[in-house]
Amino acid sequence: MSLPLHISDPADAASDRARISETFVSIQGEGKLTGVPSWFVRFSGCNLRCTWCDTPYASWKPDGVARTIDELAAEAHGAGVGHAVVTGGEPMLFSAAATLCERLRAAGLHITIETAGTIFRPIACDLLSISPKLSNSTPSASDPRDPSGQWHARHEERRMNIEVLQGLLNAHPQRQLKFVVAGEADLAEIDGLLARLSGWTSTDVLLMPEGVTTPSRERTDWLVATCIARKWRYCPRLHIELFGNKRGT
Ligand code: SF4
Repeated sequence: MSLPLHISDPADAASDRARISETFVSIQGEGKLTGVPSWFVRFSGCNLRCTWCDTPYASWKPDGVARTIDELAAEAHGAGVGHAVVTGGEPMLFSAAATLCERLRAAGLHITIETAGTIFRPIACDLLSISPKLSNSTPSASDPRDPSGQWHARHEERRMNIEVLQGLLNAHPQRQLKFVVAGEADLAEIDGLLARLSGWTSTDVLLMPEGVTTPSRERTDWLVATCIARKWRYCPRLHIELFGNKRGT
């Protein structure tokens, strides 16, 4: 399949190693597999700069160390939890993510990949967790984290690619479309996007309130009502409720 790959920075063509922000064992906090004990690996680097990014150490200021796929596969296997979550940053930037997933599959682990859905690459997984970025994600042109002022336009240009999203849906029958919702105005944007995509069902669509704290009932009542009306899923952040907004959870 030939699809436009929005890979320009900081793509890493090495397939046997990559810069990793962190690995840890926790419970999956979001989505269809909420509560499942999992080994997490966070690739460092992203082609977007969401204004509310909850992992800025893998996007705005990417940190981490080079790890080999051999090391990571052994660590995942040794974690003994049966589920692996490949996240970022944007793991689809890295060819090493595909290599790692091949190894995890060979070891019999269930694989979830968490992606913003702007990059297509063939990759083995059991659940593709796609989080398309709405306009509420775009940083302002005067964001102090971006003194050069480049990321407002760059993020806006990259955040939505219908052809790539459809390719990912076609390639991954086990998937979820997880939207970070900041307000009721976002619903029209979600409806407009879903109208341009085919093959999804209502059980694939999840709405998650924006924020890194447990939201109040006032902030979530309308979201819950919307999910009930449309037969979508409400998506809490269980890891935030259990551990707060902390790395390694
Ligand atoms: S796509 Fe994810 S990792 Fe990248 S900036 Fe947005 S929230 Fe952060």
